[in-house]
Amino acid sequence: ESDASPWAGDEERVVESALRPHSLAEFVGQPKVARQLDLVLEGAKRRGRPPDHVLLSGPPGLGKTSLALIIGSELGTSVKITSGPAIERSGDLAAMLSNLAEGDVLFIDEIHRIARPAEELLYMAMEDFRVDVVVGKGPGATAIPLEISPFTLVGATTRAGLLTGPLRDRFGFVGQMEFYSTEDLQSVLRRSADLLGVAIDTAGSAEIASRSRGTPRIANRLLRRVRDYAEVRADGRITEPVARAALALYDVDELGLDRLDREVLHALVVKFNGGPVGVATLAVAVGEEPHTVEEVCEPFLVRAGLLARTPRGRVATEAAWAHLGLPVPEGLWL
Ligand code: ADP
Repeated sequence: ESDASPWAGDEERVVESALRPHSLAEFVGQPKVARQLDLVLEGAKRRGRPPDHVLLSGPPGLGKTSLALIIGSELGTSVKITSGPAIERSGDLAAMLSNLAEGDVLFIDEIHRIARPAEELLYMAMEDFRVDVVVGKGPGATAIPLEISPFTLVGATTRAGLLTGPLRDRFGFVGQMEFYSTEDLQSVLRRSADLLGVAIDTAGSAEIASRSRGTPRIANRLLRRVRDYAEVRADGRITEPVARAALALYDVDELGLDRLDREVLHALVVKFNGGPVGVATLAVAVGEEPHTVEEVCEPFLVRAGLLARTPRGRVATEAAWAHLGLPVPEGLWL
């Protein structure tokens, strides 16, 4: 796991729970999703009924899990957490659903990776608050309908397009999370620095924010690395020169690209002559899973204007050559 990867490791999860916002008011940025969600929750509270099922989509580290927990705390209910890959058999899901109390929130991270039989069970649960539990095997098998308490499903996915149509259609509200602006990331950093008890000035937070790939999780991670540096090599305060020196030490470049991003870009530009090349081929070239390249590296490379997704494959832009310090070839078609 590299320093700027937006996936959380185990140690990360522990630190993250300390830095999580606990209410919509504390949640920085995402004005569109936050305002819409506020209305959904307020409406539900007035009606005294659980709100519609919520789907949150967007790249990792943008606050989907945080929002799911906030939904629970705003409604005053508990949140049960699981993930698509963790639900191996539909029986596991049926057990989880039947254990929910009225109004509980069930959060399923990476919901697009749920196994098909479990997904089908989820349809009925979401629509009718009922599941069919199959008892026995072969011709003697019977389906026993089981009532479950009205609940709210919050699903998270890196891309809404990865969900099957029937599952997507059962969500009453879909929130599309966007990358954060530098200003919003500075607010996240100020709040986190406060919680960590480290001093940071405006230029210091701007320096970290601008290299955080629009992602609060990365901002918080870089903050902790810069804090180490500030405490060991400086006077403990995070200023611009301290942030610069620390980030250079950790291999985070001015755009916030980490080693894997740069490897992907380098392979695309040098090995494949700028493309077009398929994402699977590109992933093999850097020794990564295609879904990591596609869901973690690419969204930001596209946003930074370094890579384009075309029907024929991935293509490097002029800026990609420039960023790697290479001469732009003649007759480049992008
Ligand atoms: P996701 O579920 O989308 O991968 P998380 O909700 O786990 O993202 O967010 C990762 C971390 O980033 C959180 O622990 C929190 O510290 C921070 N974070 C995310 N969004 C915000 C936000 N809007 N305001 C403050 N901190 C945030």
